[in-house]
Amino acid sequence: MFSPDIVGHQALRQRLLERLQGGRIRGSLLFTGPEGIGKRRVALELAQRELCLRRCACGECEGCRMFSGEELPFELPNLLRITPEGKAGVIRIDQIREGLDSNNQPRFSRGVIEWAALAPAMGCHRWVLVEEAHRLNESSGNILLKTLEEPPQDTHFILVTHRPEALLQTIRSRCERIPFAPLIPREAWAVAQRNGWQEADHERWSALGEGSLRFLEEATFRRAEAQVEAWLALMGGRSFGESADPLLPEKESTLAQGEQLRQPLELLLRLLADLARIRAGEAPALMPWREGLTALATPEWNLKAPQEAALQALRHLPRNLSPEPLIREVALSIGAETK
Ligand SMILES: [Zn+2]
Repeated sequence: MFSPDIVGHQALRQRLLERLQGGRIRGSLLFTGPEGIGKRRVALELAQRELCLRRCACGECEGCRMFSGEELPFELPNLLRITPEGKAGVIRIDQIREGLDSNNQPRFSRGVIEWAALAPAMGCHRWVLVEEAHRLNESSGNILLKTLEEPPQDTHFILVTHRPEALLQTIRSRCERIPFAPLIPREAWAVAQRNGWQEADHERWSALGEGSLRFLEEATFRRAEAQVEAWLALMGGRSFGESADPLLPEKESTLAQGEQLRQPLELLLRLLADLARIRAGEAPALMPWREGLTALATPEWNLKAPQEAALQALRHLPRNLSPEPLIREVALSIGAETK
């Protein structure tokens, strides 16, 4: 009855299916929960099941094959996918209103709102999937609002985000929130193993991923690992010049520079929280780095200053155009407190 390709979230998927079959699903849903745990896949499963010839998202039939290519199309018979675009990574108003891509070429056969209002094909629902919904900007968010309030019959909007706080409050209040929990670590690691991960990385992969699959790709994981090491080195008194490289944006990345800083800053917050745990006599969450952390968890450390610096930096990310000074300032807040 469920897609064999999705890991976890069994109870939640069961509930969604029952509500869908009973006609008790709202027109606008907001899927929230940590990054990389499969929220988008669960949303796609709802649409896929309707096109599946066996009605179960079997993953093998002709209907399911439309959902299984390397690159999922933006428009399927019962689904539109709206995703952030361009280096800035935002969902623009032209995407919503006219269905254009960043080069002003038609991505959809028509604008999203018009599409949503048309008769459903083959007795299916119409699904509009807004991926990384926190990247709607104010104008594109506002134009969606009216439709979210009263979606046309048999049309369902699913907004997916790991940062619901970054959505317009008016959008949040019009959607029913469906919170997703992280995967059980053993479920996440089973997927990792199927993707070629070896036991040697098990502990660090699980600790950094926290029940998510966002580090399935090796390069992404190695980078996060290097960022943890870099913060530990800086906290230990090493110089910015020799340690901070992994914390700064990569030029060839497709993500905007400011957005690339989110991960190192969040990792720093996790390290600081662990220092507080160790001081309180508790075990750190980032267990594989326990030794390095314990050496730093001395009482003279003021954790508050770096915590505030990191939070402040995170708040300014969307506008920040100079990554290096920003990271340097956060690093200073660590150094200033260590010496
Ligand atoms: Zn199928």
